[in-house]
Amino acid sequence: MTSESEWNEMDNQHAIEIADRVWWVGHYLPGDKFQCHAYLIENGNQSVLIDPGSKLTSAGILRKIEEIIPFTQIRYFICHHQDPDITGSLSELEQKIERDDCLLVTHGRAAALLKHCALKTPFWLIEDNDWKLDLGSRILHFVFTPYLHFPGAFCTFDSVSKIMFSSDIFGAFTDDWSLFAKDESHFENIRPFHEHYMPAREILLHGLLEIEKYPINMIAPQHGSIIKGRLVNYMIEQLKGLDCGLYLMHKDGDVQRLSYINEVLNDILKTMVSCRKFTDFASNLLTLSQRLLPVELLEFFVLLENKQVLHLTPLTRYRGDIIPSPAFCEEIWSLNQKDQDKNYLELSNANTEEILKYFISQDYNSANIKRGYLLIPLFSPRDNSPQALCIFHLTKDVDISTELDQMIGQLSVPLSVAIEREAVYRTLELERDNIYKRSIRDPLTLLFTRSYMQDSVQRLLAIHNRDDTADIVLVICDIDHFKRINDTYGHVIGDNVIKAVGSILLENTRSTDIPVRYGGEEFTVFMPVKTVEIGTLLAERMRQKIQEIGFLSYDKKDKFSITISAGVALHRQNEPLKELIQRADDKLYQAKESGRNQVCVETDSEE
Ligand code: GH3
Ligand code: MG
Ligand code: MG
Repeated sequence: MTSESEWNEMDNQHAIEIADRVWWVGHYLPGDKFQCHAYLIENGNQSVLIDPGSKLTSAGILRKIEEIIPFTQIRYFICHHQDPDITGSLSELEQKIERDDCLLVTHGRAAALLKHCALKTPFWLIEDNDWKLDLGSRILHFVFTPYLHFPGAFCTFDSVSKIMFSSDIFGAFTDDWSLFAKDESHFENIRPFHEHYMPAREILLHGLLEIEKYPINMIAPQHGSIIKGRLVNYMIEQLKGLDCGLYLMHKDGDVQRLSYINEVLNDILKTMVSCRKFTDFASNLLTLSQRLLPVELLEFFVLLENKQVLHLTPLTRYRGDIIPSPAFCEEIWSLNQKDQDKNYLELSNANTEEILKYFISQDYNSANIKRGYLLIPLFSPRDNSPQALCIFHLTKDVDISTELDQMIGQLSVPLSVAIEREAVYRTLELERDNIYKRSIRDPLTLLFTRSYMQDSVQRLLAIHNRDDTADIVLVICDIDHFKRINDTYGHVIGDNVIKAVGSILLENTRSTDIPVRYGGEEFTVFMPVKTVEIGTLLAERMRQKIQEIGFLSYDKKDKFSITISAGVALHRQNEPLKELIQRADDKLYQAKESGRNQVCVETDSEE
């Protein structure tokens, strides 16, 4: 036998032995994407010709057969189905038959059509003969693969060479035809052929499961290249996962392109299912859409129930900030159901300018770079209302072809689902955050609540109890004569004062400090510092700043200011929180007693 590389270069003008006494006797048609093959099993005067060929190929095939055996040694003519590229040559070949025991081996459903060719050779139906043909030295098994692509379709397995003559299955479109598939990449030729010729995934899968029951060494299809060795399993497995039968409705001729787009869309769907994090989904989506469009950035504006917008952009790693709805989104939110067939929006000039302005203010690339935008409105899968706007930032303008339009239409389905899912997650998360914040933060001042203080400060004190270097200083302060402010200016102004004091506390503490609204107009700050002096400095600074704030009465006629008094104490190891607070409070009381608007600190001698 010849090696594979020799085969590929061999002169296709001659029969080629693909296995011991099994021959390719096809006729190569230059420029035909659809090369049709005939095969000969050399078996004495019981020889078999598989898929005899068309009127175009009959002369070439006959010549090749006769290079090997006299034509009269052929007894069986197997027709895997009745298409003209398989059976067109039969009437001509019949003229050459000199014996009277020749048989046309096929399925009854093909025979019902083939009889109209008015052939003399009798039919031998596989289904009436237990699906096998015993040739003495070998058995041919017929594998029924109905509806692939014909109700009576079948394949033939030769028990000796272990070749599966597969007819249309494993066929391929080939530009550079080679008799043998070179590597896994041949699947890219097989893919479009099956996507377009096989009626449905389930039917294809059924056929493949029947086929793979046989110990196959080689697959010899009627079109494309012969598959052997490790590629046999590879191609079977790839075909099992293939979607097919999708293109019945397409008039477009560019099947390779359509199948490519289909593949990208499938990948996008898979990405949606497999990526739980939106960041991952979005970055995969970007890479996948770059296979079709010059996209450099993808972002989303999602309309929330409170009319605010969830902005998902790579600039914040799709963290999803809540922003007021940008002006250019209003057009999208006002779309109605009948606009649903709008896969993308044409931008008015004004709109483009507004978007540009927005993106520039958001720190995107500078304005003088020529860019294009593809605006895709997304509708809620729940009630079809406009739900989001997806913006593809393009490096250059693209013409929207029918093909691209359809693609965007299909893309928007998985996109809407992914966006809706993300919006639900993010809203829940924000609500949870808010509830959490409300319980640990006082809503008026945003300082920590007393209940949060109990937990967190206990933990800090416990650390200090174990580690004497982890000191804690407590500052406690109280607004002077606050009752008077309420009485003079009213509670609303009183609240404003408390809020202003809260802000001063927030601004002047560090992230490691714990500033707390301890009571109505009393505040505490727990600081992980070593000496009361540092606490005193903070208290002094706050006292000064608060004193400088000018408040206005409700009618804005009166201006007034306020003061605070403060006490400072250092935690003693193993001292309970209550006692620490009591000691700081004693100092506060002292400050009040001594005339207010001052800070009192425990001196060393008091300890
Ligand atoms: P002192 O200088 O001794 O602290 O005098 P004071 O008037 O501040 O003393 P006191 O603690 O008796 O008065 C505090 C007042 O603060 C009583 C209460 O009505 C008022 N208050 C407590 N919480 C709030 C609040 O959230 N808003 C407003 N407007 N007033 C509050
Ligand atoms: Mg007070
Ligand atoms: Mg008070």
